Amino acid sequence: MAYDYIIVGGGSAGCVLANRLSADPAIKVLLLEAGASDANMLFRMPAGFAKMTKGVASWGWSTVPQKHLNGRVVWYTQAKVIGGGSSINAQLYTRGNRKDYDSWASDAGCEGWSYRDVLPYFKRSEDNQRLHNEYHSYGGPLGVSYPINPPPISHAFLRAAQEAGIPFNFDFNGAVQDGMGHYQLSTRNAERSSASSAFVKPVMSRSNLTVKLNTQTLRLITENGRVVGVEVASGTGKEILHADREVILSSGAIGSPRLLQLSGIGPADALRQAGIAVVHDLTGVGGNLQDHLDLYAISECTGDHTYDRIAQPHRTVWAGLQYLLFKTGPVTSTLFETGGFWYADKQARSPDIQFHLGLGSGIEAGVATMKNPGVTLNSAFLRPRSRGTVRVSSADPRAAPLIDPNYWEDPYDRECAIQGLRLAREILRQPALKPFVLAERLPGDGLNTDQELMEYAYRSCKTDHHPVGTCAMGTGADAVVTPDLKLRGLLGLRVVDASVMPFVPSCNTNAPTIMVAEKAADIILGKPPLAPATI
Ligand SMILES: Cc1cc2nc3c(=O)[nH]c(=O)nc-3n(C[C@H](O)[C@H](O)[C@H](O)COP(=O)(O)OP(=O)(O)OC[C@H]3O[C@@H](n4cnc5c(N)ncnc54)[C@H](O)[C@@H]3O)c2cc1C
Repeated sequence: MAYDYIIVGGGSAGCVLANRLSADPAIKVLLLEAGASDANMLFRMPAGFAKMTKGVASWGWSTVPQKHLNGRVVWYTQAKVIGGGSSINAQLYTRGNRKDYDSWASDAGCEGWSYRDVLPYFKRSEDNQRLHNEYHSYGGPLGVSYPINPPPISHAFLRAAQEAGIPFNFDFNGAVQDGMGHYQLSTRNAERSSASSAFVKPVMSRSNLTVKLNTQTLRLITENGRVVGVEVASGTGKEILHADREVILSSGAIGSPRLLQLSGIGPADALRQAGIAVVHDLTGVGGNLQDHLDLYAISECTGDHTYDRIAQPHRTVWAGLQYLLFKTGPVTSTLFETGGFWYADKQARSPDIQFHLGLGSGIEAGVATMKNPGVTLNSAFLRPRSRGTVRVSSADPRAAPLIDPNYWEDPYDRECAIQGLRLAREILRQPALKPFVLAERLPGDGLNTDQELMEYAYRSCKTDHHPVGTCAMGTGADAVVTPDLKLRGLLGLRVVDASVMPFVPSCNTNAPTIMVAEKAADIILGKPPLAPATI
């Protein structure tokens, strides 16, 4: 079978591309995904997120010891399943700040990627349950909904934030990002709306679209300066697959630079060090890694105000039945559905801290579980100045990559993160939460100086799962792809996923990745771009 396009990686971006490119029946598309199907009910249930950072459908990687976090190794969940991150994430639907995209255009030279250029692509995907205006739309493939039934503690949290001076915001994805409110979620009718369920499932019957699961791509095949196909693991052997037009790499911000390097495409020194023959020396591959690091405060509740006790077997069964029979109850919650954006640095050009209220304790891997019901407030600094790397350690495609986000290399990141944690603690102590919150347990009343909070952070911090930037688009010397997403210096290859973002947006990264793929599809098909927004 000959294919026009081979898409490597069926994650958030790969699923969008599979849909948009195969819309023309004359174009043959192959989507390759290393992970398995998302048929298990857990992927559909919003609260399934509680299992998702604990090893389900993940590559099982960790960072290298973090030099500026006291040598800490951070567990680093990256999805391995059709739908990628969108099948295992917390379903928060956020787009960031318009200045994020304006900075892609003006500071990284990504012409065509300013906010006005990309807003129509956010809207093209969107099937918003409630909103239709200059910022939102309905009728697209991706379900976007408000939380179904946030518990009273969520509303008290919003009042507490206002007591702490942070206003209420109904729509972070609208005219103003600042403030606290309920997040929009990538859900529809109380089910996760992943890139797989929204973009691939509805078009699986297209005869020009082939989806191969459990198929890891081992390397890209290059002939005379052109990428012509891929080698994949097939059963116990290997198979070569050819692309008549292009190979599109959508393996994610860790997977894409990893596969490029395994194929001899990357910084020559790093390749030689790993024992890989250099096919194309491209300095920027695997550099410029940016991620959001989460710190958190956890308080013990005065009673059963969050979902911690749903973990008791009889309540799990009841919650499951309630969901299956009526689509109501705790299982409809993504567990992180309230929060918002505010300032650590009062001079910042837009909010630089994001909060996620966790309706329990121990929801994510490595986060402490309280004996009694708890409530968690995560705070993440949004525009880190530190830059890290993704490198391969050897030519073995089964070996884990060396992931080094280099968190807190720049002291400014640490200062802002600690300030974010202070804000989180302050909100949890406001009068509106008094009926719900007994006392702070982490960091705990005894820890107050910057040094004490830093040491607490070394022990407890976690990734917010937003790696980007490792195959950055732009016009600078370290850019890996051009603004039309072609790999610099080789023909027949584009990269389309979170790795091409030159700077991490000030938000969760799924909606921005889907936007990137929507716009990429038009570029690849040679269609004129959607008319820029006028707001
Ligand atoms: C636990 C978690 C929680 C998150 N929470 C949120 C959230 O609530 N809201 C939000 O907006 N964002 C969230 N994110 C981030 C968001 O989901 C990601 O930014 C987004 O999914 C990235 O999309 P992508 O297409 O770049 O990569 P991915 O979605 O990671 O897709 C890459 C795909 O490529 C496959 N792959 C990799 N290498 C190969 C290979 N060699 N051969 C074949 N296949 C390969 C992988 O298995 C994977 O399926 C979260 C992420 C995680 C992991």
